[in-house]
Formats: sequence, C-alpha cells, structure tokens
Amino acid sequence: MPDSATKPNWGQPPWTIDFHPARHPLPEAVDFAVVGAGFSGLAAAARLRRIAPEKSVAVFDRALIGAGSSGHTGGMVLAETAAGDLPGLGDVLAGYTEILKDLRVDADLALPGVWEIGRTATLSDSPISWTDFGNLRAVRQVPGGSVDPGRVLSGLARAAETSGVLIYEDSEVTGAEFDNDVARLRVAGKIVRAGAVLFATNAMSLELAGLSTRTKPKFTLAIATEPLSAAQLEQLGLASGKPFYTIDFPYLWGRQLRSSGFIFGAGLVHLENWRELQIVDVSKGEARKLIARIETRVRALHPALHDVQYTHRWGGPILIGDDWQPIFARHPKSPRSIVLAAFSGHGVAQSVYLGAWAAEALCGHRDLPDWNFIDKSA
Ligand SMILES: Cc1cc2nc3c(=O)[nH]c(=O)nc-3n(C[C@H](O)[C@H](O)[C@H](O)COP(=O)(O)OP(=O)(O)OC[C@H]3O[C@@H](n4cnc5c(N)ncnc54)[C@H](O)[C@@H]3O)c2cc1C
Repeated sequence: MPDSATKPNWGQPPWTIDFHPARHPLPEAVDFAVVGAGFSGLAAAARLRRIAPEKSVAVFDRALIGAGSSGHTGGMVLAETAAGDLPGLGDVLAGYTEILKDLRVDADLALPGVWEIGRTATLSDSPISWTDFGNLRAVRQVPGGSVDPGRVLSGLARAAETSGVLIYEDSEVTGAEFDNDVARLRVAGKIVRAGAVLFATNAMSLELAGLSTRTKPKFTLAIATEPLSAAQLEQLGLASGKPFYTIDFPYLWGRQLRSSGFIFGAGLVHLENWRELQIVDVSKGEARKLIARIETRVRALHPALHDVQYTHRWGGPILIGDDWQPIFARHPKSPRSIVLAAFSGHGVAQSVYLGAWAAEALCGHRDLPDWNFIDKSA
C-alpha cells in the first residue's frame, strides 16, 4: 500500500483548468455536501444552487478541481452508457448541451458524430483504413463529439462558486456517519454536518461511497500528437473532425484537438486496490510500457503517422461497474444521500447529465433510475 511520502505521476494532459476557488474556513454545517470536484460533483453542486438557492452547498475534494478522471480524460462526448442505453436514461447529449448552456460553460463542445471502427463488417465507403491487428475501418457513425475538459471543469466550478457554492480543495473526506437527518463528515480532520451528501468520488474512496464490492478501479493511458497537417488528416480519413473508438479489441480511441493534434488512448493498468492510484507513475513500470505500446501502434496505423512526434503522455483512473452500468443509487447507509460513479470510461457527458439529475433527486424533485442498488453490507 502507498505510504504518505509517495506521490503519483499521472503525466501531463493537454488541458488547462484556469479556475481556482476562493478559500474559506470549513463550515460547521451545510444543507448539501458534495464529495468530489470532478464533472459529477461540480455539475451537481452548480445545479443544486440553481434549484434551491436558499440552501447551502459545499464541495470537498481531496486534491484539486479535476484531480481525478475529469482533468485527465480524453473529452470524447458519448451518448450512451458503457452498457448502452438504459431504461429512463433519456437524451444524454441534449441534456448535456442544455446543462452547459444553462450554466454558461464555454466548453468548446462539438457534436459532429463519432466513428465506431473495427476489424470486421466495416462500411464499404469507410474514410478510415488503418493497420492495427488487422485492417481497421469505420463500421458506423453514432451521435457524439468532443469537448475541452479543462474548460468544462473551469466553467462548472465558476458557475458553482458564482451561485454561492463553497469549494474546498485539499479537503479529503475520510469518514461519514449517518444519523436520521444528518450526516457527519470528517473533512480534513474536522466534522462537517450535512443534511444530505452526494458521493461523486469515482475510482477513489470506494469504501466511503459503499462501492468496494461492486466496482473495479483501473488506470488508463493516452498520448497527444503534434499538430497534424490538413493533408495528414485527409489521408487518415479524419478530416471531418469526428472522434473514433474501436468496437473490438485491442481497444483504441482518439479525438482531434483544437491545435489539430490528435489524442489516442488505450490500455488498462490493473489495480488490486484503488489506493495504488496514489503511486501510479507513467514514467515507470506497466504504465510506461502501455504508453510505449500506444506510441508504436499509432506510428504503425498509417504512413501519414510514421514520423509523428508526441507532445503529451498521461493517464488517469476509471471505475468499471458491474455489467458496465453507472452506479446511481442511494447510499447504503443513508437514503438521503446518493452515490454517482462507475461510468466505465464513458463519463464525460454522463457525469454532468447524471450529476444534474442527482441534484434534483437530492432536492426531492426527481426519483433515481432503477438501474442498480448498492450492497448494504458493503
Ligand atoms: C485517460 C482517460 C480518458 C478518458 N476518456 C474519456 C472519453 O473520451 N469519453 C468519456 O466519456 N469518458 C472518458 N473517460 C472517463 C471520464 O473522464 C470519467 O468517467 C469522468 O471524468 C468521471 O467524472 P467524475 O466527476 O465522476 O469523477 P472524477 O473526475 O474522478 O472526480 C472524483 C473526484 O473525487 C475526489 N475524491 C475522491 N475521494 C475523495 C475523498 N475521500 N474526499 C474528497 N474528494 C475525494 C477526487 O480527487 C476527484 O477529484 C476517460 C478517463 C480517463 C482517465
């Protein structure tokens, strides 16, 4: 297990988070506490103050805004969950677009569609023809696109703080006890009372959120290239700006950057325990090997990429749920509190969409979907 002296090195993604919250003393009590300042927690917090401006809301993060998956993501926007459509899920892309608009988040959102690519049963007029464990070609187009995750995080945090949410960085929640009407959170060594709590801690703090028996934390990798020329993008079949992901294995996904560089991602570091995330180092061991493997695969995809240079190498956590379904349920120890996590690598749009839904559920304005329950013995 990592000790307190070890530090992770997840590398450097190409995103900038330019919002830093004002500092405040910890509150003694709030109406709503949100644990986790990623997409889920920040969207929920901003939405809570929209719905219930008279209620106090605090967000606590063990590190900084976006320190988990959200600041290390690829930013591909997908319509469905990793398990496909789910009963009552609704229109994720329309909801995501509306939430970003409502909160005035300038996310650089583009929804040109996404290529599903594969090695068999491909389109006869596929613009993509690459070499990667066979001939990779487009299979079909699905709704979706991309955002700038740094802008989404900055925009959500700014919207939340402007509406009165208190955001606390470097404020780890290390324990939660529940009485009938109140939760007592241990935050940075102090007790904060909360009327209800949203646990949006994703791949970390699995015991706190009641997720340890239902989910598997992993660490996944990505690289970004130098800007590609219009001719290179044309030769690659990527001139339309559509992101892509494979529907068979080995997995590969990618999306274009504003700079015309391209992000490619693949690979999973297996973890015995989420605490190992605190010692993952992309310059060493398994993570380094997997990054080197993506670099080699990308250069071999197409002659247009033979000499491509890489500008960024990084990774981040993802949480895989049972049956690949997101967990969106009442906390096992408190029916007033909610757990939202386990997007299984499909969380960019889901997290914001379901985070806003969680806010409505915390205020009693909407029920939770009936997808899953959390083991009360966990
Ligand atoms: C490399 C990579 C590429 C990805 N690409 C895509 C993609 O292209 N498309 C897509 O849809 N999805 C993608 N994902 C997944 C997507 O990024 C995540 O599903 C999404 O960001 C999850 O957001 P979240 O807010 O739920 O979790 P997170 O962003 O992980 O936020 C959880 C927060 O909780 C905090 N926390 C944890 N424990 C505590 C505690 N005890 N006290 C206080 N704070 C705590 C953490 O510090 C963290 O900031 C990718 C993920 C990675 C790593």
